[in-house]
Amino acid sequence: MSVLIVGSTALDSIKTPKAENPRLLGGSASHAAVAASFFGPVKLVGVVGEDFPKRYIQLYQRHGIELEGLQRLPGKTFHWSGEYELNMNNRRTLLTELGVFETFNPTLPAAYQSAPFVLLANIAPALQLHVLTQMRRPRFVVADTMDLWLNVALADLLKLVKRLDAFVLNDSEAHQLTGEDNLFSALKQIHRLGPKYVVIKQGSHGSILSSPRGLFLCPAYPLKKVVDPTGAGDSFVGGMMGYLAAAKGPVDNHIRRAMTYGSVVASFCCEGFGLQRTTRITRKQIDGRLKELERLARF
Ligand code: AMP
Repeated sequence: MSVLIVGSTALDSIKTPKAENPRLLGGSASHAAVAASFFGPVKLVGVVGEDFPKRYIQLYQRHGIELEGLQRLPGKTFHWSGEYELNMNNRRTLLTELGVFETFNPTLPAAYQSAPFVLLANIAPALQLHVLTQMRRPRFVVADTMDLWLNVALADLLKLVKRLDAFVLNDSEAHQLTGEDNLFSALKQIHRLGPKYVVIKQGSHGSILSSPRGLFLCPAYPLKKVVDPTGAGDSFVGGMMGYLAAAKGPVDNHIRRAMTYGSVVASFCCEGFGLQRTTRITRKQIDGRLKELERLARF
């Protein structure tokens, strides 16, 4: 089954203590779509400007990503720039140029409206809601977000969260949303906002799922060297949704393994700038790393 992914399609300029790379293919939807594409068909919804390089379109195509929902508008592509500190855990946004995102109004092609799995990757919650209202009875809807929307669009975000099956956020966002220092108390509060499944990402410490079947502690793959963690969160949720859409039977039977696959794809993402490493891996390499992670976490 296919997964529909809406989010940002961007040009990212990324600076780390070791290197600087301008105008790479980035955006939450790009990272999530490439990650999901290793597992099954992906339908992308996004917007780019006239400056969006043709080679990036070809890259989506090489991954079999359906682009009927990718609009090209007059103007500039969303451009984001960030800089990492020495330990690579702290990131500073240097620049956000909205470009064509300012006027973006995602209208879904008819073939997209019945996609069973929907990933509302990080983008303004009003746009995530707008996409959701065009869907016909999706089976499983997940949304990701970022601190910016908690600060500037909390009312929209809460409206969205009410309608989700699963909400994915990181630990500092969970704290910001609930005022709770304890993650497990925060999880309880987030469930009360609507979603049956809540996933809290903890970067290199893995992630936690709270679901009707209880808690799951999902490990992160231990990397010796992180080149650029941009998009790791998007790759995690993209990989998770790609795997879930391809699996048969109830989500509850597969969600733990789906998260672990997400974790593995995210680890590859961190090993290169932007999408440079993720776009060069194979399903076999993903499966190999998953087995390794299984061995490491078993007791
Ligand atoms: P992550 O590292 O998982 O937080 O995701 C980084 C990606 O988010 C980058 O590729 C950016 O293009 C994208 N991004 C940054 N700021 C925004 C924003 N305000 N809205 C949507 N996407 C964004």
